[in-house]
Amino acid sequence: MENIIYLDNAATTKCLPNVRDIVEKYSNDFFYNPSSVYMGAVQVRKDLENARKELLNLLGASNHKLLFLSGATEANNLIFNSLNLRAGDKILVSVGEHPSVYNRAIKERERGIVVDFINLNSDGTVDIDDLKSKLDEKVKLVSCMYVSNETGAVNDIKKICKIVKSYNSNICFACDGVQSFGKINVNLDMLGVDYFVLSAHKIHGPKGIGALVYNKQRKIVPLLYGGGQEENLRSGTENVAGIMGLHAAAKHAIDNLKNNFDRVSNLKQNFKIKIIDANIGAIINADNETSSPYILSISIPNIRGEVLLHMLEGYGIYISTGSACSSKHSDNRILEAMGRNKTEVMGSIRISFNAIDKYDIDYIASKIIDTIKELKGKIN
Ligand code: PLP
Repeated sequence: MENIIYLDNAATTKCLPNVRDIVEKYSNDFFYNPSSVYMGAVQVRKDLENARKELLNLLGASNHKLLFLSGATEANNLIFNSLNLRAGDKILVSVGEHPSVYNRAIKERERGIVVDFINLNSDGTVDIDDLKSKLDEKVKLVSCMYVSNETGAVNDIKKICKIVKSYNSNICFACDGVQSFGKINVNLDMLGVDYFVLSAHKIHGPKGIGALVYNKQRKIVPLLYGGGQEENLRSGTENVAGIMGLHAAAKHAIDNLKNNFDRVSNLKQNFKIKIIDANIGAIINADNETSSPYILSISIPNIRGEVLLHMLEGYGIYISTGSACSSKHSDNRILEAMGRNKTEVMGSIRISFNAIDKYDIDYIASKIIDTIKELKGKIN
């Protein structure tokens, strides 16, 4: 573990030491069930409710409520469950969405819901003209992620949401904010979204905890029935250690947001320059000034990303060929939607940074470039 250079932070991140301490605290000394009535449990309830309040503040969300649940996958599914969709209703989902949105949308087709996918531009952002052309009176939901977990492309959510709401203010707007929260400024009052989804393990918090933040005017229809926790909307004893860990991780990320952003921007920029200067035929995906500095997606035609990944693993460098969730599939609908051809898709890798580790970019870039050259040599 000592010598691993971990560059797959879009898949998950390591818990911060202070987050680990908090998780430990609420797993041991303060392990009580927040629904119990003795003093220790009442204190745990107070801490949990404070965490909820502070998270809403950190999100600039004065018109919203926040529900703790097991992560972003559950939150995205809960949104669909809450829409009260009927056969003939239409939903518009960006083709770049995470599988927890994309696959759920496809599932909705089985009950007669019309699902239309919004195209992407070549830089990975949502094609706003395509969205406009697909809006009609049947549309009940538009779902558009903030930052792509595959490419780092950042959507102008405020603008997109405004377009949708101006067309019809009753349309629900859902935003998967997993790769944005704690990394770029997020203010839900300003964005105007109905639903916002986040997950702790992408920001150095624990796995298995996330939140659905929803406009107070919107109804939530629970997926689970049981003890009635979370105002009857998400039954099951609260994951207090996870919630307090999420809170600590979020506070740390947002307190250090600007410094972290600058640090990671430098890393990405330096790395990009080295890759381009190496003349290895690399194409930088989602290469525009607004893309997230945390994620770098590269296509190298005529090599296999998977082979490169395993060769780099031999040097202790961990990267990904795309999102961890889609790594079982050889296709990549997102890069294809951006216009990448088959060989470019096959040769795509994702490098994702964190703002905590010290990276020796010279060393990492030279290892990656040399390995690509070696692979290309084998092909030619
Ligand atoms: N949405 C995005 C954009 C993600 O990157 C991820 C993580 O893979 C998820 C949703 C799913 O998050 P979770 O692991 O909390 O279910």
